[in-house]
Amino acid sequence: MNSKIEKSSAHSDKASANDLDTDICVSGGGVVGGLAALLSAQARPDLSITVLDASPAGQQDPRTLALARTTILTLQRAGVDTTRLVAKTAEIQHIHVSERGGAGSTTLHAATYDLPSLGKVVSAQVLQEAILAACQQHPNISWRSETSLQSVAYETDKVNLRTQGKQAAHISTKLLVAADGGRSMIRQQLKIARREEDYGQTALIANLTLDRDHMGWAYERFTEHGPIALLPCGARQMALVWCVPSDSAERYRELQDADFLAALQSEFGFRAGRFSAVSGRASYPLYLLLAERAVFHRTLLIGNACHTLHPIAGQGYNLGVRDCVDFARLIGEQASADGEVAHRALLEYERQRQSDYKRIAGLTDGLVRVFSNQHAPLVAARNLGLLALRKHSLLSYPLARAAMGYRNLLGER
Ligand SMILES: Cc1cc2nc3c(=O)[nH]c(=O)nc-3n(C[C@H](O)[C@H](O)[C@H](O)COP(=O)(O)OP(=O)(O)OC[C@H]3O[C@@H](n4cnc5c(N)ncnc54)[C@H](O)[C@@H]3O)c2cc1C
Repeated sequence: MNSKIEKSSAHSDKASANDLDTDICVSGGGVVGGLAALLSAQARPDLSITVLDASPAGQQDPRTLALARTTILTLQRAGVDTTRLVAKTAEIQHIHVSERGGAGSTTLHAATYDLPSLGKVVSAQVLQEAILAACQQHPNISWRSETSLQSVAYETDKVNLRTQGKQAAHISTKLLVAADGGRSMIRQQLKIARREEDYGQTALIANLTLDRDHMGWAYERFTEHGPIALLPCGARQMALVWCVPSDSAERYRELQDADFLAALQSEFGFRAGRFSAVSGRASYPLYLLLAERAVFHRTLLIGNACHTLHPIAGQGYNLGVRDCVDFARLIGEQASADGEVAHRALLEYERQRQSDYKRIAGLTDGLVRVFSNQHAPLVAARNLGLLALRKHSLLSYPLARAAMGYRNLLGER
């Protein structure tokens, strides 16, 4: 058993070696749950924090994430070694936004906003490993990988958890944090109502090799079938997010690499150069999910468990990071010496977070719908809009913020 876990005290006379009391239990050790544990451990080193993760440590996540500057700064503050996350070649200096078959296009440049970059591109896998490594340095965090939460039972003063897997235990905690992803078992068990909409699109992701360097350009191209994003991530390497109608996703998945590249080149064109090789192909069905409550009794929902977004504007993780920051502030300011947080403080956290969710989900959902619609006047309006953006760089300022996941380009949280 993990030595850190043994420090937690048994909670009753009947306690066995497999019983554990912890102040905070985070269920889900993904990029959001791990960061929530790190930031709250920093805010309150006197509290015990247990992370449960169903996956083996270092499990493959083939996604590539575009991160806002504020997200990188938060990771650094949390003690995550960001130097190994982002190569210079993975910084976005310019963004090109266009529509296939449309007249409008626009470009955004970091220099216009006097910024070192418009965003940074990281491998979700490397990020996950760096967060885990930082958690393992913290004496008050216990990490249980390959251990999944099975059920939750509430008492007035605690939550009892049944777990299964490598380091299974009966756990009781004062606060449960649900960071267990879009299909959250906790949200489902609590029957928390949600808004859920299937976009009918699937994201095909892959790593592309090009015949020329990307020079720090990222591309977002809207097509009649769905958006295509290319992110710079290494010399002559770009990460692809290609959203296709779900009913044709299987056909694309079955294509040989050469045919996949030819189909992509035909949809995207040659603006970024010629695609010469592809690797790491995977796919994700896309849907919007917004939980109606982020707080239930002694439980908080964060990250994808609370809000799952279309990746069109690269907002999902950035929003989850803000959950972690606000959660850590709640713990730092409101948890008593024995780790109790008043219910009204949890409700105040929820009230503040909900306005961020509504704004970002509204923006992301609006972008998907506007650019998925082939209604002729709307197509014309989009083209005019993109041309206007090109003429008036000030107008593109909010788009740059939205596209790269900033809450505020000037650096406020
Ligand atoms: C194609 C694509 C591209 C994206 N691009 C971007 C981008 O550029 N920028 C951006 O900001 N966001 C992006 N996102 C969104 C981003 O990937 C998510 O917001 C982020 O991964 C959510 O992390 P999470 O930790 O909340 O959930 P997850 O990553 O789903 O992690 C959930 C964790 O919970 C664990 N778990 C599940 N059930 C249990 C259980 N019962 N017990 C214990 N553990 C459990 C799982 O093992 C997993 O480790 C993208 C998403 C997609 C699909």
